[in-house]
Amino acid sequence: MTVARVVIDVPARALTEPFDYAVPPHLVSALGVGMPVAVPFGPRRAVGYVVELAAESTYEGTLRPVDAVLGTALFDEHALELARWVAHEYVAPLSEALRLFLPPGGAPRVVRGADGTWVYEGRQTAPVSTRIVMRAADSPFTPRSNAVVQRAVLEALSEGPVTLPELSAEIAGAAAAVRALERAGAVVTTDARRYRRPDTARSSAPRHAHTAEQSRAVDRIARAVETGGTVLLDGITGSGKTEVYLAAIEAVVVAGRGAIVLVPEISLTPQTVGRFRSRLGDNVAVIHSRLSAGERFDQWQLALEGRVNVVVGARSALFAPVKDLALIVIDEEHEPSYKQAQTPRYHARDVAERLISIRGGALVLGSATPSMESQHAVETGRYERVALTQRVGGGSPPPVEVVDMGAEFADGNRSIFSERLRTELQSVMERGDKAVLFLNRRGFASFLLCRECGFVPECPSCSVSLTYHEDGGRLQCHHCGHTATAPVTCPRCDSPYLRRFGAGTQRAEAELEALVPGVPIIRMDADTTSRKGGHESVLARFDAPGPAVLLGTQMIAKGLDFPDVTLVGVLNADTSMHVPDFRAAERTYQLLEQVAGRAGRGPKGGTVIIQTYWADHPAVLAVMRREPALLFDAERADRASIGYPPYVRLANVGFSGPKAPDVSEAAARFARALGDLLPHDWRVLGPSPAPIARLKNRWRWHLVLKAPPGADISSLLAQVDAATPGIEGVTRSIDVDPAGML
Ligand code: ADP
Ligand code: ZN
Ligand code: ZN
Repeated sequence: MTVARVVIDVPARALTEPFDYAVPPHLVSALGVGMPVAVPFGPRRAVGYVVELAAESTYEGTLRPVDAVLGTALFDEHALELARWVAHEYVAPLSEALRLFLPPGGAPRVVRGADGTWVYEGRQTAPVSTRIVMRAADSPFTPRSNAVVQRAVLEALSEGPVTLPELSAEIAGAAAAVRALERAGAVVTTDARRYRRPDTARSSAPRHAHTAEQSRAVDRIARAVETGGTVLLDGITGSGKTEVYLAAIEAVVVAGRGAIVLVPEISLTPQTVGRFRSRLGDNVAVIHSRLSAGERFDQWQLALEGRVNVVVGARSALFAPVKDLALIVIDEEHEPSYKQAQTPRYHARDVAERLISIRGGALVLGSATPSMESQHAVETGRYERVALTQRVGGGSPPPVEVVDMGAEFADGNRSIFSERLRTELQSVMERGDKAVLFLNRRGFASFLLCRECGFVPECPSCSVSLTYHEDGGRLQCHHCGHTATAPVTCPRCDSPYLRRFGAGTQRAEAELEALVPGVPIIRMDADTTSRKGGHESVLARFDAPGPAVLLGTQMIAKGLDFPDVTLVGVLNADTSMHVPDFRAAERTYQLLEQVAGRAGRGPKGGTVIIQTYWADHPAVLAVMRREPALLFDAERADRASIGYPPYVRLANVGFSGPKAPDVSEAAARFARALGDLLPHDWRVLGPSPAPIARLKNRWRWHLVLKAPPGADISSLLAQVDAATPGIEGVTRSIDVDPAGML
């Protein structure tokens, strides 16, 4: 008899242990590890994944048979080993870890078909859409001026026909634009399958002669590809890290092997994607959130079928089915978005390290501001550090000036622009150059703050500060939507100096218009870029000849490369300093350094001006003096003495529910169970109310487990998790190596 061990994938059920099923004779030769199958599960049918085939079962009863094989294998032995590691390390059910390897596009289901057979509803078995798009002969059609995406599509087609998935990977919103263009008769599409553009079609991008530092970095990575290992590419902005990635990837591809490149979602801009496209041509699949589920599935399928060697994408692309993987690149490795916020709460950096240890090959972590975790891994010999210390274009990074806004306020300047920033901005505009202005909004939106007593209005049900909106003077909670009219005087002390902190984009825009009349002011934030093609059109307007100001949030900190930008201003450095998190100082430094890197990328040089009420914050000093050690030495000492990563290992266990006493009781119960088994040098902090004590009408408590570095924190948590009964209505979530503790 053949037995299939199957991990069942039912939504909302956390299942780890596989169930045994009999394999009927007609399926024996068809069935393999990694395949999705339909199996009976209680009274229903469920989708499951085969994790093992065995000759016999230890189950006492009669085994029920597998109904049907639903598709080709979704994971191999290596992927399964990785999934098991993820499940263990992050205390998650194996079924959820396995889901990471499924193609994008909704949870799989199995339903009874009309003819009584079992039909699989998922994307795994859908064909790759290879519709080919080409320009209609002699069409005089010209898109309206605001049809940016249509223009981009026609531009791309001027080089010849292209498949729809490729077009979609390059241009967000391509599919919709193609449909519109089709109706206008400007393009035609055909359904010929298996069409491929010649590989040389777009590989015409100029190749640079590498600097000595770049060559050394490429060599070191090539060696790591052979021997296995992690390289931390610590390179200042503009030092040519992307060029190093590209050269390393090309070497891997020439050898017929594969590579995965992770980029933070926020910087997965058309500019970034274009650089990979222009060098790797058709040999790259790109997966990002602005694609529809179908488009993402098509990109995934290109890798699964071995039609591309390289996948570029955000965090989840780490699990793309790249053949013969030899290289993983994680750009901006310090970015918090590499930690997943839902189960399994994995960190891409650590999973990638595990993945290459299973499959061989190199992991390259790139950053201008490496995380403290990675710096520590270099110190302990786990990673090899390779530095890029020079900007490729020569020239030194721009000077950084700091303006003390408290002093400005005392001098009677109530504007959000200091005198210094105002004059510099005006002269930059007169010269016809461009400026980037950064509004720091990480963690908090703009809020009211009493300058006399420090009172900040908060949401009655979420205990987070309310966001102030200029239009109509409204206060709003961005967690639950609660709104209120902004008070005129401080409700606590009656002071008239209840002022907003962290000026919003609207006010900055209004003041700017008065400051530089007639200059185009381009806003870039979640609102202006959420539409498909939004990014492209915003950047295209900024790139137009002549002076312009780009005013934006976090989004502008990354990847922008405009040589005409000669001024970068940070309007409010303070916002991120006040986030209640042990990484606040590190994050502030990384953010300021990234923003500063947008200036002076061309021959004209540039200036960086940072406005802050806390001018001697170590992060500000470190950026101003170009001495990261000013921040990191202080941080190392602090974290080592208080006991924070990388000097301890943390896990955050959260509890939430509608009834406060139940939530605190659940937390206390878990803490007691943990305490009974706690090794002598480990510690439990709390339980206590979470920093955001109430969210969407659920009370939140948490406790923090601290263990020595390298300790197996997961086994203990899994044991306590399994042995401690919960309380009805209370959700428990375990976050190992948390990115934050809100
Ligand atoms: P980073 O990613 O480190 O910020 P980039 O890779 O964006 O740096 O490089 C900055 C600029 O320099 C880009 O426009 C890139 O095309 C260019 N560049 C990179 N390497 C070289 C080189 N060896 N010679 C000339 N230009 C280069
Ligand atoms: Zn007050
Ligand atoms: Zn609220």
